[in-house]
Formats: sequence, structure tokens, C-alpha cells
Amino acid sequence: MRPGGSARGRLGLLGGTFDPVHIGHLILGETAREQLDLDRVLFMPTGQPWRKAGRNITAAPHRAKMLRLAIADNPAFEVALMEVERPGPSYTVDTLRELISAGAALDVFLILGEDSLLDLPNWKEAERVVEMATLAVAGRGPDTVATAVLPGYVRERLVWLDMPVVDVSATAIRERVRAGLSVRYMMPEPVRRYIEDNGLYRQ
Ligand code: ATP
Repeated sequence: MRPGGSARGRLGLLGGTFDPVHIGHLILGETAREQLDLDRVLFMPTGQPWRKAGRNITAAPHRAKMLRLAIADNPAFEVALMEVERPGPSYTVDTLRELISAGAALDVFLILGEDSLLDLPNWKEAERVVEMATLAVAGRGPDTVATAVLPGYVRERLVWLDMPVVDVSATAIRERVRAGLSVRYMMPEPVRRYIEDNGLYRQ
């Protein structure tokens, strides 16, 4: 904790489908924690991910359990189920309002991969989102997003994280499991075992 800082002062929010959680998410959370001096990073699985409507999403209890297994050994990481428990589509603006009105933190950082950053202007009340949170963004490939394509109100609230490119995605993991290929080391071993034991992503 920084001198004079409150224990609940600097909060990172890393939302996602986490279907399943993988090393890209974990390295992203840890990079943000370290570089932004965060007290806590909340991993928040979406309930109904409206940006992935039409896709079959694994039931929330499985996604939440995999997240719990994945973060168990990091004291700064927590799983928050607000979006899973709130009925209707999961909108980040509602989540931020709820966190801030509950006094969860003084400074909130929304942690994102650059694919999510590009999509952010389409989110519900995107301008309100960036009023409530600083955007902490990591690249996902060799070509970093040309920030010029983003509206000014997004660019002003942007901090780039210095993170090595981790070319792993949940989509690729699901495809590999379906094809009977190894996903070892793409996620913590307890998560890989959970997927195997519960027969997830086989079809
Ligand atoms: P899918 O392939 O199912 O779309 P995903 O692997 O992109 O999933 P999400 O749960 O959608 O994972 O991602 C949650 C957040 O983590 C998003 O902001 C996304 O950009 C970011 N993220 C996911 N994978 C990585 C990665 N390998 N490197 C950096 N950021 C990542």
C-alpha cells in the first residue's frame, strides 16, 4: 500500500466472459496491479454478455469456479459476481455505478485488452464509463491499435500497460479442447483439470 493510501484506494476491474479464464487474463491483471500500484483487481465474469449475444456461453457457476481456481494464490485478486447476479444484460456502466456508490474504491481502473478498447465507444453510456474509470489497456498482437480511430473522450482516459503479447484466447482454447488438443500451460493447472473433469468445451 502506498503511504497515506487507503487499503481500498486503487481498484482494477477486469471484466470478461472468462469462458475459460487463461494466462492472458491473469498476466493482464498482474501487469495492471504492478504498473498502476493497484490494491485489488476484481475479476468480474459477465452475466449475459450482450456483445457476445448469439454465442453459447458456459453457465456462470462453471466460469466463476474456474476463475476462483485461477486466482486462488494471488492475495490482490478477487472474483466479483455482481454482473452474474444482476438480471438482464451486463453493462459496465451499471457495474461501475454500483461499485462507486458502494464506496468500493477511490480510483477505479478498467483493465482491457485492445480488442475491447476498440469496442468501447459502442458500449452503453461509454462517455459515463470513462468518467468513472481510467482505461488501462494492453496490446494483444504485434500491431497496436491506432488510437486516432478512438474518440477524444476515450483517448484522454487511456493508459497503456507494458505487457508482453500473450497470444492466447478463450476461443482458441475452446477449439483446441473440442479438437482433443492439449491446453496445458494455457491456464493454471487446476482450471485445466476442472475443464477435463467437467467435460467442458468438448462439443
Ligand atoms: P473469447 O476468445 O471467448 O472472445 P477472450 O480470450 O478474448 O475471449 P474475454 O473473457 O472476452 O477473453 O476477455 C476479457 C478481457 O481480457 C478483455 O478485455 C480482453 O481484451 C482481455 N484479454 C483476453 N485475452 C487477452 C490476452 N491474451 N492478452 C491481453 N488481454 C486479453
